[in-house]
Amino acid sequence: MSIERLTSALPATSWTTDQDIIAPWLVEWRDEYFGRTPLMVMPTNVSEVVTIINICREAGLKIVPQGGNTGLVGGQTPQGEILLSTRRLNNIRSVNATTNALIAEAGVTLQTVQDAAEQANRKFPLSLASEGSCTIGGNLSTNAGGVHVVKYGTTKDLVFGVEAVLPNGEIYNGLTDLRKDNTGYDLSRLFMGAEGTLGIITAASLKLFPKPGHLQRAMVGLKNPTDAVKLLEHCRHGNSLTMFEVMPLIGMELVLTHIDGQRDPFANTHPWYALIDWEVGDPATGQHLAETTLASAFDQDLIQDAVIAQSETQAADLLALRENMSAAQKFNGGSIKQDITIPIDRIPEFFAEADLAMQRIIPYCRPVGFGHFGDGNIHYNIAQPVGADKQDFLSHWNEVSEAVFDIVGKYGGSISAEHGIGVMKRDTLARRADPGKMSLLRAVKSAIDPTKMMNPRVLI
Ligand SMILES: Cc1cc2nc3c(=O)[nH]c(=O)nc-3n(C[C@H](O)[C@H](O)[C@H](O)COP(=O)(O)OP(=O)(O)OC[C@H]3O[C@@H](n4cnc5c(N)ncnc54)[C@H](O)[C@@H]3O)c2cc1C
Repeated sequence: MSIERLTSALPATSWTTDQDIIAPWLVEWRDEYFGRTPLMVMPTNVSEVVTIINICREAGLKIVPQGGNTGLVGGQTPQGEILLSTRRLNNIRSVNATTNALIAEAGVTLQTVQDAAEQANRKFPLSLASEGSCTIGGNLSTNAGGVHVVKYGTTKDLVFGVEAVLPNGEIYNGLTDLRKDNTGYDLSRLFMGAEGTLGIITAASLKLFPKPGHLQRAMVGLKNPTDAVKLLEHCRHGNSLTMFEVMPLIGMELVLTHIDGQRDPFANTHPWYALIDWEVGDPATGQHLAETTLASAFDQDLIQDAVIAQSETQAADLLALRENMSAAQKFNGGSIKQDITIPIDRIPEFFAEADLAMQRIIPYCRPVGFGHFGDGNIHYNIAQPVGADKQDFLSHWNEVSEAVFDIVGKYGGSISAEHGIGVMKRDTLARRADPGKMSLLRAVKSAIDPTKMMNPRVLI
């Protein structure tokens, strides 16, 4: 009855109960979460979102918001709640090259925003391997990171403000392009990393940046993570360093073995690899910067070999080796995955201690620690021993995770760097977070969503 009330209040194109249409949106990318819902609503404008929220609140229905369905912690997968897809909120409302602001609706994909910025001779610097599918609403709700955080920060650093429909049906309009606006709490920031628990983001005003003249990319072979820390410092020149990603040999081998069209740019293998971007004025400056920086790194024995991209195609090929890491791991049997941050200078100690701890729990398991090294963000994934039974291996998930989190805590790190908490780490957060933080999180949630209508199983 409540569902009929909802469907009769919306245009027929804005909802479906057809399980064949809904099915793809109930499975996430890695096949780790499977959901169910009686109804998917697909509003095309803010007023339809308000209608949905009001009816759900009055009828006691719960809502799970979903954008591109690329989230990695189960936050977008309903378990009986109404699935609210933002994909049809897909207009770019304005681009202003003077204020450097772009207003996009929540369901616009990140790639579409990047392209619109480019057309205005500007750059929107958020960059993720999922950018063709993930949406701006999802990016804000997870405070996504990606590969350009070294220079530009995470999503919350790239936003002027948001428009959101609150659980009480009110519209919060924070769509501004003002760089200075000290008029109380920064309410828009509440929605960044909120994972859909405080309302539906319907649009965001995003910060644009000058388009760099040239992006210079290089890949290097390294002996160990200690040299990677030193190399990171060595590669910083003014504000030009934009990306510093690191992957181990096992990661490179997985990509070369399992992903079509990938080629090893080096003649010999190396224990570790770093992928580096600098933003500079023109290609000649980029070549000079990369050559002189990497030559002196070589002289100091920080790197063993280097490839400097000579064209956009070569640069794309190098990036593909890193971006295909997640896809390649699907072919590596079971994998227990963590997305953590460690203070950069402690990463080598973390690897040494965590790798030992993993061998104690699961002898012959294969740590695959890779990722956004320049931000201290490691995707510390543990692959099953060769030939092991996958289910038996995965039954160690909690034990492995707790051991990793203990070491993360010891080094002053974070149990979630960029993927968020979702349902995956909700209980861990409650157990491990500072009690003052948890009570403030709960107070904000109950002030804005007292009936726990919005994404009720997620975050807290
Ligand atoms: C191959 C691959 C690579 C990735 N690389 C990175 C990376 O480098 N860095 C990184 O940070 N993440 C990465 N991710 C994770 C993911 O892409 C990001 O978390 C992304 O921001 C999610 O966007 P989405 O639109 O797909 O959100 P969804 O998955 O649909 O939702 C994510 C969360 O946001 C909520 N939500 C979505 N839209 C709204 C809205 N409009 N209002 C309120 N709540 C909303 C959902 O309820 C859910 O809790 C990667 C994922 C894949 C598959």
